[in-house]
Amino acid sequence: MHKNLVVVGGGPGGYAAAFLAADLGMEVAIVEAEPRLGGTCLLRGCIPSKALLHVARVLSEVDELRHDWGVEFSAPTFKVETLRARKEKVIEMLSGGLAQLAKRRNVTIVHAKGAFENSTTLKLEGSHASIPEGGKLTFDHCILATGSLPAMPSAFNVGSPRVMDSTGALELQDIPKTMLVVGGGYIGLEMGTVYANLGTQVSVVELTDGLLPGADRDLVRPLEKRLKTLFDNRIYLNTKVGSLAEVDDQVEVAFEGSGKFGHDRYDRVLVSVGRRPASRGIGLENTQVQLDDRGFAQIDSQQRTADPNIFAIGDVAGEPMLAHKASHEAKVAVEVIHGKQVAFEKAAIPAVVFTDPEIAWAGLTESEAKKSGRPFAVESYPWAASGRAIALGRTDGLTKWLIDPETNRLLGCGIVGPGAGELIAEAVLAIEMGAEVRDITDSIHPHPTLSETLMNAGEVYFGTATEIYKPKRSKV
Ligand code: FAD
Ligand code: NAD
Repeated sequence: MHKNLVVVGGGPGGYAAAFLAADLGMEVAIVEAEPRLGGTCLLRGCIPSKALLHVARVLSEVDELRHDWGVEFSAPTFKVETLRARKEKVIEMLSGGLAQLAKRRNVTIVHAKGAFENSTTLKLEGSHASIPEGGKLTFDHCILATGSLPAMPSAFNVGSPRVMDSTGALELQDIPKTMLVVGGGYIGLEMGTVYANLGTQVSVVELTDGLLPGADRDLVRPLEKRLKTLFDNRIYLNTKVGSLAEVDDQVEVAFEGSGKFGHDRYDRVLVSVGRRPASRGIGLENTQVQLDDRGFAQIDSQQRTADPNIFAIGDVAGEPMLAHKASHEAKVAVEVIHGKQVAFEKAAIPAVVFTDPEIAWAGLTESEAKKSGRPFAVESYPWAASGRAIALGRTDGLTKWLIDPETNRLLGCGIVGPGAGELIAEAVLAIEMGAEVRDITDSIHPHPTLSETLMNAGEVYFGTATEIYKPKRSKV
């Protein structure tokens, strides 16, 4: 079987590429090793974790009603099998939808593990009925979209089902009494939030001196404060796990560091110390594709690898490993293959950590700005001054802009607070459009909403924020 385009991997990078290519008139196949489309994001990542985080958020809000608003009712109970089934239903609905969309677009789906025989041929491993006779696919172009896998350092790989990666944690086999999360990054904090709200006593051990090392500290602080309460002060920074061993139906963990030293036991351990690109064992050595020392496919700004027939997108093509980055890169790769002169030139890739509070940022971060030595101004609006935040009882939030002081252009934005992940979209548009502070302060934002804090943080820059007395500049 021959196709104009073969996409290896059916995640948010792969299916977005295949569908656009089909819309542009190409003959397309997706080769996906799993029985369902959707990739990590849909099957064991973004979507199931957000379904469970929804439950966690509602449980936490219910608790707040009882404590802060005098609403009386008995403590909620839940059935773990119903939670699990509901989460599965969400996945099934979306992956079924993708299969339908592929069919309507005439995209051939081959369920097989693809391995490159050379720069124009993919060998198909497996026994699924969708594999064409001869077990091979040839192509004019191929997009590598094989994604990434959880990193499991060999010291943690002790062969115990009690030691889980994110996939295991999302299966929600039970609600353990105690759980240690190794790694205070995106997955550790999101899944830690889920389990803690479902009743598990969660502890977090983080190698560096702060949670979410990539995020600005003023954004992390309100989250850390709330997590200290949720995790009952069991956040161990500057600490590493020396060894894990299964002992008497528990996992014994050896800690080494200033946050915690010695041994402790847990019912389950979640290892969430990062992800690695899925680029090994797929015959890339038979092509001209080059990998960097971490295994990411090396690409140029048009998603081209060193092999003229092969493009790479998504997690396998480098950080940040985010679904929306994968699907945007998919558009760039397909348009380049279609003959358009486009490139991946984004000023703002949003990042959202779906904890409570959520943390979101886009464009330049304050730590990056400081490191770069470039001139910048940073202006923050505390949510304690927002009527909506006070009404919600969530004055712990903060919205800030990074601004070019010479041009008044918006360079970056950071938000912490409930709903930050939705609010950041306005900042992405502003930064991508090259907006100035004045554009945001002169746009009427609906009242009372948390979106006003984006406008208000801009007003702080001019010293004219209505709810804050902080006169300073006359740049209006
Ligand atoms: P993937 O989604 O990893 O898809 C790759 C596909 O390729 C897989 O289906 C795999 O089976 C297939 N494949 C691999 N090798 C082969 C082969 N040789 N032959 C055939 N098929 C193959 N990102 C966000 O933006 N927001 C979030 O909220 C978010 N939450 C996450 C939560 C968790 C728990 C995890 C683990 C990740 C999360 N991510 C999130 C990251 C997101 O899932 C990834 O960035 C995204 O899935 C990358 O898309 P991709 O298309 O590059 O690869
Ligand atoms: P991560 O890079 O976000 O965090 C890993 C954390 O583990 C870091 O803080 C790191 O310092 C720490 N660490 C590393 N080795 C350690 C060790 N031996 N002991 C203790 N701590 C250690 O990685 P992750 O949480 O596994 O997530 C992987 C990727 O998946 C993320 O980087 C992100 O790209 C993606 N993801 C995104 C979302 C989202 O967009 N909301 C959610 C989940 C995952």
